[in-house]
Amino acid sequence: MRTALITALPGILLAANTVSATVVTDQPAIANGNFFDYVIVGAGLSGLVVANKLSAQNHSTLVIEAGPDGSWNNLVRYADDLTYPPVFCNWNYPRYDDNGHRMSQTISAGRCIGGSTSNGRHIFGPEISLVNIDQIWQTGASSMVAALAEPSSLESRAQALVSSGAAVNIEGAKMILNTTIELILENRLPIAEVVAESYATSLNTPFWPLMPLSRGHIHIASSDPFQTAIITPRFLTDTFDQQVGVATARRLRNLFSNKAFEDIVENAYQYPPLGPNATDAEYLGWLQETVLGASHWIGATAMLPRALGGVVDARLR
Ligand SMILES: Cc1cc2nc3c(=O)[nH]c(=O)nc-3n(C[C@H](O)[C@H](O)[C@H](O)COP(=O)(O)OP(=O)(O)OC[C@H]3O[C@@H](n4cnc5c(N)ncnc54)[C@H](O)[C@@H]3O)c2cc1C
Repeated sequence: MRTALITALPGILLAANTVSATVVTDQPAIANGNFFDYVIVGAGLSGLVVANKLSAQNHSTLVIEAGPDGSWNNLVRYADDLTYPPVFCNWNYPRYDDNGHRMSQTISAGRCIGGSTSNGRHIFGPEISLVNIDQIWQTGASSMVAALAEPSSLESRAQALVSSGAAVNIEGAKMILNTTIELILENRLPIAEVVAESYATSLNTPFWPLMPLSRGHIHIASSDPFQTAIITPRFLTDTFDQQVGVATARRLRNLFSNKAFEDIVENAYQYPPLGPNATDAEYLGWLQETVLGASHWIGATAMLPRALGGVVDARLR
């Protein structure tokens, strides 16, 4: 158990949890000069779950959150009122490409008590399908499996991650990649998530890879704690992720042009604006232009030995 003396910064909202009571306040003075068993930075899903467990064991716990208490706001209270991207409680982190240029898209992430659960849909209402490598490629799956299992491909992937700054060394890169590849090949876990949404005049199927081999990086850009980090997601930089994206997009469009939808769907090729004969390169171009993160990352600090680029150990220390 650690003990910390707190000197709170003005303007930061605190949720101080003592053995006897939970206090939510934007008055930092409540913590000044006090000792807490645990201090947690960030009142999101991870921070609040850990704080809840600790305070249930009678540890005095302080949670420091950068954003406000948004629970009064209807955009947080009612899932139906949510907009995408969220207009309230959103950090809108800037996003950078591999050359360090700021991109037009930003990254949505919650900035209030509750973190990103305050600007997500809380529970997915629509139908979700999870598909593995066999289901996406069917008869073509064996060649995809063989290519992914090829040791030289692991070597070149690891090298690419290190050269791009997404991994600190080859051993660390291989450990992360190998873990993902094993889940895809040996456990046959789903590699894409497909959501079915129906609206008054359209049927939509957003989708995203679940086991990406593309890796990005985040670097602190300034000693000023209020400056945002440089976030370079490097979405779809690995060829396997590109193939997953193209194959899933094609399968979904074939679905809408299926006879079963004949009387319901007027135009199976309305969006993206690519016709029935579009090439893989055209699909990939569209994906690369429009790709966003699915926002489902959690506790986003690498859990690995420090020598391999880890930030926290298996006990989150
Ligand atoms: C737009 C959007 C839609 C989503 N929709 C869904 C959905 O429908 N279903 C689903 O299951 N999941 C959804 N998610 C994902 C889910 O909300 C996240 O995976 C989850 O909340 C992540 O938890 P976390 O604790 O790691 O981070 P977060 O919940 O993001 O919490 C991090 C907290 O830390 C705070 N913080 C950051 N920096 C500092 C600092 N320097 N000082 C103090 N505080 C700081 C932030 O303000 C934030 O409150 C969605 C996410 C987003 C962004």
